[in-house]
Amino acid sequence: MQPFVYNALPARVIFGWGTSSQVAQEVKKLGCSRALVLTTPQQVDAGEKVKADLGDLAVGIYSNATMHTPMHVTQEALSKAKELNVDCCVSVGGGSTIGLGKALALHSPDDAKIKNIVIPTTYAGSEATPIIGQTENDKEGKPLKTTQKTLKVLPEVIIYDIDLTLTLPAQMTVTSGLNAVAHAVEALWAVEANPIISNLAVQGIEAIGRSLPLIKADPKSRDGRSDALFGAWACGTCLGAVGMSLHHKLCHTLGGSFNMPHAETHTVILPHAVSYNAPYAQEAVSRVAKALGVDNAAQGLFDLAKNNGAPYSLKELGFKEEDLEKAADIAAKAPYPNPAPLEKEKLLKLLTNAFHGNRPE
Ligand code: NAD
Repeated sequence: MQPFVYNALPARVIFGWGTSSQVAQEVKKLGCSRALVLTTPQQVDAGEKVKADLGDLAVGIYSNATMHTPMHVTQEALSKAKELNVDCCVSVGGGSTIGLGKALALHSPDDAKIKNIVIPTTYAGSEATPIIGQTENDKEGKPLKTTQKTLKVLPEVIIYDIDLTLTLPAQMTVTSGLNAVAHAVEALWAVEANPIISNLAVQGIEAIGRSLPLIKADPKSRDGRSDALFGAWACGTCLGAVGMSLHHKLCHTLGGSFNMPHAETHTVILPHAVSYNAPYAQEAVSRVAKALGVDNAAQGLFDLAKNNGAPYSLKELGFKEEDLEKAADIAAKAPYPNPAPLEKEKLLKLLTNAFHGNRPE
């Protein structure tokens, strides 16, 4: 056994079918009584249902959560929270809605922190991390996303209700599932890798790997949907526990500097990031392959996306070929730990393969 350091994050996790009906008792357990429900405009119905379950404990609903947590949205939600004297929020949705709940916690006073109960409906994993990304316009008016890590934003309670994932559209199910797998893959080769998180990573990859074909065949598959949501928790916990490297940095660059969509970009880049690191992270990569039941991890991840109807090239996501060089430049410049050395020419090749949707070798 290699020496390691492991910091466990506090978490209360409730997992099952129909579990969102327990939300009122969770609010009371936190000592709260004035909950604000958060959703996106697309998930107002799911939010209203949770508001009804909360009864008198709900004081309102704010349904304008937006991807990348823009500051002006946070400020609007904060004003509403203040006006309603809110003591906790219940986020019903994916990473965007959970991001807004985290922002309310971050920007509330330490002695009157707005607590977070989250009911995740995608597989992005934000619910299990003490990380928040926020977007604000820079001096030139361009959106600039900055990320910080603080326990203040770690949700107090996660309620995983499998029923609420049945409506997740087919393509988003695959891209969000692969977004989750990316956290687990990078956890296996992380500098802070440790046996607890590595085992969880393998369990997460296995669960999502077997769930996606089941959900493709039947979007309401009980086994598929419950495995996928369990996998999301396992992979999200990896993201919260250890540092990420090349894959997440590339996706952050493509999302932050080129406005590429979050889960889809993760899906396209992951097989190529695995191929890039494979010679320098052989044990981690062979654990990924074993978890997926394939010989070649990079190809297995590529096939998992393609065979289940997800995008597999940056080109089809609208990325411009002339921006490849600039993206490789940014990714090569920012220093960060990674198994393989970061060389601009090799990164350009990785991105070019991802652009064309080439199956990795
Ligand atoms: P999302 O939350 O933006 O959701 C995408 C769309 O799908 C939204 O319109 C949403 O309402 C809808 N949707 C979600 N679940 C649904 C369901 N079950 N049925 C029907 N529609 C549903 O997408 P996401 O990929 O979950 O989150 C992306 C955001 O989360 C990004 O801003 C990303 O940076 C952030 N994120 C943060 C962390 C972190 O640790 N801080 C981790 C992962 C992602």
